[in-house]
Amino acid sequence: MVKIKFIIILVNIMLAQTLFANAMRIVKSKLHDFVNVQEIIPSIRVDMKYYGSDNFVGRRIKGYSAPLCLLTEKAALALKAVQEQLIQNDLSLIVYDCYRPQTSVNDFVQWAQTSSDNKLKAKYYPNVNKSNLFKNGYIAYHSGHSRGSTVDLSIVSIDSRLKILPDKLDFGSGFDFFDPSAHPSYKKLPAQVKINRLFLQNLMMGAGFLPLETEWWHFTLKNEPYPNTYFDFPITHN
Ligand SMILES: [Zn+2]
Repeated sequence: MVKIKFIIILVNIMLAQTLFANAMRIVKSKLHDFVNVQEIIPSIRVDMKYYGSDNFVGRRIKGYSAPLCLLTEKAALALKAVQEQLIQNDLSLIVYDCYRPQTSVNDFVQWAQTSSDNKLKAKYYPNVNKSNLFKNGYIAYHSGHSRGSTVDLSIVSIDSRLKILPDKLDFGSGFDFFDPSAHPSYKKLPAQVKINRLFLQNLMMGAGFLPLETEWWHFTLKNEPYPNTYFDFPITHN
């Protein structure tokens, strides 16, 4: 009886290991179908927040060696369909983050575990304790962005030279605002903000992306080519 129990436990462990192996793998190399989104969509506006210091950490994040929006070709082509609709109305997508190396996610995790660094709390997480950023799901050990088909974006007005105009569409919060008011379906918002969020969501869903409950700017391609693979190559021009 003890022997049978032991075998059952062993089989369960092996099964769990197999499931875990199937559930997630880390790949260090860049695959051929990762593209620079600006080469696929020349008109798209790119403002890679983690390459600069205008982000919740306040400095460049590890892994971002170039200000490039890299995505799988499948995700980039889906995004192109959205941009083609917007550009006809003097609007454009602006991307804030695209493929994110696992190294960068690890950098966030390390930052979140450092309780002393709260210099940008007022701008990015005024109502959440830094220690709860994990618990509330704003920071995690793995991000869908590392799979290469997830993108953070918004919509801006542009002129004929693709210059961003100051008459910003109001989405009710900035990018990476860790707060319930950034949830796409948050109720206590001006009507125009709700309309803008719905407009963005409808466009993205129409192109095959899925929204996230907690961030109005975050979308993942529904039929992403690497649903279980987390990449960890740096963002560079090569
Ligand atoms: Zn995101």
